[in-house]
Amino acid sequence: MCSKFYSMAMSTVNGCLASQIFTAATSARARVSLRPAATARLNNSGSTPPSLIRNEPVFAAPAPIIHPLLKEDMGKDSYEQAMAALEKLLTENGVIEPVAAAKVNEITAELTTAGGGATISSESVERLKTGFITFKREKYEKNPALYGELAKGQSPTYMVFACSDSRVCPSHVLDLQPGEAFVVRNVANLVPPFDKTKYSGVGAAVEYAVLHLKVKEIVVIGHSACGGIKGVMSFPYDGSSSTDFIEDWVKIALPAKNKTLAECSKDTPFGEQCTTCEKEAVNVSLGNLLSYPFVREGLVKKTLALKGGYYDFVNGSFELWGLDFSLSPSLSVKDVATILHWKLY
Ligand SMILES: [Zn+2]
Repeated sequence: MCSKFYSMAMSTVNGCLASQIFTAATSARARVSLRPAATARLNNSGSTPPSLIRNEPVFAAPAPIIHPLLKEDMGKDSYEQAMAALEKLLTENGVIEPVAAAKVNEITAELTTAGGGATISSESVERLKTGFITFKREKYEKNPALYGELAKGQSPTYMVFACSDSRVCPSHVLDLQPGEAFVVRNVANLVPPFDKTKYSGVGAAVEYAVLHLKVKEIVVIGHSACGGIKGVMSFPYDGSSSTDFIEDWVKIALPAKNKTLAECSKDTPFGEQCTTCEKEAVNVSLGNLLSYPFVREGLVKKTLALKGGYYDFVNGSFELWGLDFSLSPSLSVKDVATILHWKLY
C-alpha cells in the first residue's frame, strides 16, 4: 500500500458477506395475487402526488410515457408502442434541448433499422416479477409495522454515496433496511463540488438530505475494482476524449489521481495504484461536501457528521473512517479544506 491516508480509520470490519438468495416464486396463486399490486404501483400516474417526508408533497410523478412495461406479452407490439411514444414525445415536448432531441432521433432511427432490437426478453421481465413477488411475500407482508411507518414518511439516519457498480449495493452490504439510508449512486461514488448548474442533481440530493430529512451522517463509500476509478487513472486527459460523459464525470477524482501518482512509485502495480485512488477519491468527495454551505453549517452545529468507507468485495472487508476536526463559522471553505487535507494525510 503506497498511502497511509486512512490511518485514522475508526474501525475495520472483516468477515464474509451474508448473501440472500431469493427463491423465485412461481406458483399460480402468487402470480394472481401480486400482479394487481405491482401494476397499480408501477402505473400510478395518480392524482395524489407522492411525498418523501412528513407527508409534505414534494413533487408530482409525471404520467408514464410508455405504459406497457409490465404487460404479459413484451413482444413486437410493445416495441412498436414504445417507438410511437418516443416519436410522440419528440414532436410534442418542446422543452427537449436540440442536442438531446437529435440524439434521441438518432437512436430512434437505429432502433427502427435494427427491427425491434429493443424488445425486452421475457426472462428479464420474469426475473423482476418474481423478485417483487418474493420481496412482497417475504418482507413487505411480514413487516406491516415497518412498512406502515414508511408509508407515513421517512426519517433516515444516513445519506450514503455509493458507486453504481452492481456489486456494491449499500443496503445489501451494510444490511440497511428501508427508511434507514437516503442513497445516491453514481459512477465511482463521487460527490462533486457545490455547483448549481453543472451538478444540480447531486446538489439537490444533498440539500434535501441535510435540510429536509436532517440526516445525521453522510457516508461516502468507495470499493475495490472500481471501473470509474480505473477510468480516471487511465484516461490521458490530454484534450482527446473517447466518451460522452464518463471522462468528464470522473474528472472530479483527479485530485485523488494526482495524489496517488505522487505517492506511489513507478514500480507500484497499476491495480494497487487504483486501490489507493479508490480510497483517496472518497476523501476528495468528503472534501467537496464541505463546499456545500448547509453541510458546513451542520458540521459546525454538530448535527451532521461525515464518514468515509471502503468496501472490498474481493476480501470481504469494510473500512470506515471519520473526520475529527473542529470548524468555526468564520472559516472559509479554503481554510476548511486545508484543515481537512492536513487531517487526512
Ligand atoms: Zn465503482
